[in-house]
Amino acid sequence: MNLSVNANSILDEQLGYAKRVLSLAPTVYGNNPKACVITFGCQQNVSDSERLKGMLYEMGYTIVDETENADFIIFNTCAVREHAEDRVFGNIGTTKKIKKERPNTIIAVCGCMVQQKHIAEKIRKSYPYVDFVLGTHVEHRLPEFIYKRLNGGGRVFELSMEDNTIIEDLPTRRDGKFKGWLPIMYGCNNFCTYCIVPYVRGRERSREPEKIIAEFKQMIKDGYKDITLLGQNVNSYGKGEAHGVNFAKLLRMLNDIEGEFVIRFMTSHPKDCTIELLDTIKECKKVSRHLHLPFQSGSSRILALMNRYYNREKYLELIKNAKERIPDVDLTSDIIVGFPGETYEDFKETLSLVNEVKFASLFTFIYSKRKGTPAAEMPDNISRAEKGKWFSELLLAQEKVAENNIQKFLGKTYRVLCDSHSEKEGYMSGHTNGTAVVEFKADASMLGCFVNIKIESYDNGFIGKII
Ligand code: SF4
Repeated sequence: MNLSVNANSILDEQLGYAKRVLSLAPTVYGNNPKACVITFGCQQNVSDSERLKGMLYEMGYTIVDETENADFIIFNTCAVREHAEDRVFGNIGTTKKIKKERPNTIIAVCGCMVQQKHIAEKIRKSYPYVDFVLGTHVEHRLPEFIYKRLNGGGRVFELSMEDNTIIEDLPTRRDGKFKGWLPIMYGCNNFCTYCIVPYVRGRERSREPEKIIAEFKQMIKDGYKDITLLGQNVNSYGKGEAHGVNFAKLLRMLNDIEGEFVIRFMTSHPKDCTIELLDTIKECKKVSRHLHLPFQSGSSRILALMNRYYNREKYLELIKNAKERIPDVDLTSDIIVGFPGETYEDFKETLSLVNEVKFASLFTFIYSKRKGTPAAEMPDNISRAEKGKWFSELLLAQEKVAENNIQKFLGKTYRVLCDSHSEKEGYMSGHTNGTAVVEFKADASMLGCFVNIKIESYDNGFIGKII
């Protein structure tokens, strides 16, 4: 079957269910049914939640922040760390009382965490007041599930990952006014040995460039000025697709759209970051001067165990190329400390890489075992306390790097988007097209405008003035 015809008919069917819920929900909840969407985890989840909110809005729900008075509550969950899963269970537990007091309230859990069989089973057995458990491939069917439940249907556990069709044009309610997320692809093919994502999000699939461009143009029309393209590995956008548009070409196409805006993207895998991409960033003035290149470990031995497809030397060569081509680039990265089998010698290689590259900022994590991944079966002889010590050492090293980095911003002028205003202080806060955040005196009427800011000082953050 033609995939886009199939996707269109799925969308029509769900919009049909949404209309039916629109008439049915007020007969159950009164005139103003309310829905609460609680999001855990990464930007991809935030973006997915924006689509859930869009569908709920189409069904006549008002979106509220608190679960207390909500008639529909959905937890959009993350599986990347055990700690996040514990928090989700704690949150689900609080809805037991709500369900007791208002039995018509529908409780749903979706996202990466429930895509793991043992988690779905735990909810089935221990949380009988949860109505829906929805995997990552079926969230677009929310109108259908709500309609059936309101009509007396039973609990739903729908975790199928067989259908890889991308459903376009789902209604979306974005959280931000000027800064927005735009997914360009879903899933991942890389199978890093510590990571659960390929198992819960499925294989890589890219959206058609025309669809991305149309949504991007609409966002610009709606007033968005800073748009982040999302994907588990955006650098491999378009691989194996008939349209022949790779990520670098997509960036050029978006850069050519009229208007003043910043294009950001995340996340990138170092193995797919090509010279073509670096040159594209250099030449496209609307593309952010920020490259997030997660290196995870500075030790080639550990990188091989992680199945990362590059070694320390290749990563450093990539950084050299990036700095040569884009001298004003802000580099950021992710690091895992205490991967199974890692020794202090390996960890010292991570430290030396941090000191050598001088990242603008780092996202650092102590290794968290994920059931079902190869790394979870690897011998791990280092105690949590020891890993904690290494972790503190890493934070200290990065603090020093960040302190030294401050100097390179002072006295320079940047184009900055005014994106939040403090009425009390009279200060505006904005982002450069890299990673720096700067505060400056400005009126609230400037929100959403670009201004030239000279950075003058640093006091727990950059302070500048409009020039
Ligand atoms: S690239 Fe590796 S770390 Fe990133 S989502 Fe894919 S498997 Fe996980």
